[in-house]
Amino acid sequence: MRSRWVHGINSVRVMLDDEVDRIAALLLAWKLRCIVRECTGPVSDVMDIVSPEVRSRMMAGIKGKNTKPEMVVRKLVHGMGFRYRLHRKDLPGSPDIVFPRLRKVIFVHGCFWHQHPGCRLAYTPKSNTQFWLDKLEANTRRDTLALMALDAMGWEILVVWECEVSNLSSLALQLNSFLASNIR
Ligand SMILES: [Zn+2]
Repeated sequence: MRSRWVHGINSVRVMLDDEVDRIAALLLAWKLRCIVRECTGPVSDVMDIVSPEVRSRMMAGIKGKNTKPEMVVRKLVHGMGFRYRLHRKDLPGSPDIVFPRLRKVIFVHGCFWHQHPGCRLAYTPKSNTQFWLDKLEANTRRDTLALMALDAMGWEILVVWECEVSNLSSLALQLNSFLASNIR
């Protein structure tokens, strides 16, 4: 079966085989190189020094909706005067923050769950390693497909990584330049 994108006004269906998947991933990596930024900044060593119990609590805290980093981003963009909708289920990947009029979306990703490239928070747990590898790879794949689908629908995308949220001034600059730009 040939694989291809099928996209219309109200729906995006994605059919992929391995080859198309690989090529599309390469194109996406090129096109979205500014979105999926590699981690360069210093990140906390806290994951290395806390007990496994605390670590799993922390990981649980990162997962899910209305996590703290997302609240920080929401407050910042709201303060800049941008109005948004949340978790639009009708869009691929249910983007965390949606600006319908600007046709822009923001994802606020946990570095572990979404495997931030080059980030120390994106480690692989030492126990149940295969389980985690499979799970994290599935997450990454799902993210990639959502970004590709949104891109095909003409949405501009910004991914804010959890480890970037602590630097408020740089985050604010990044958000403002994304939302204020009009390059479409
Ligand atoms: Zn990170």
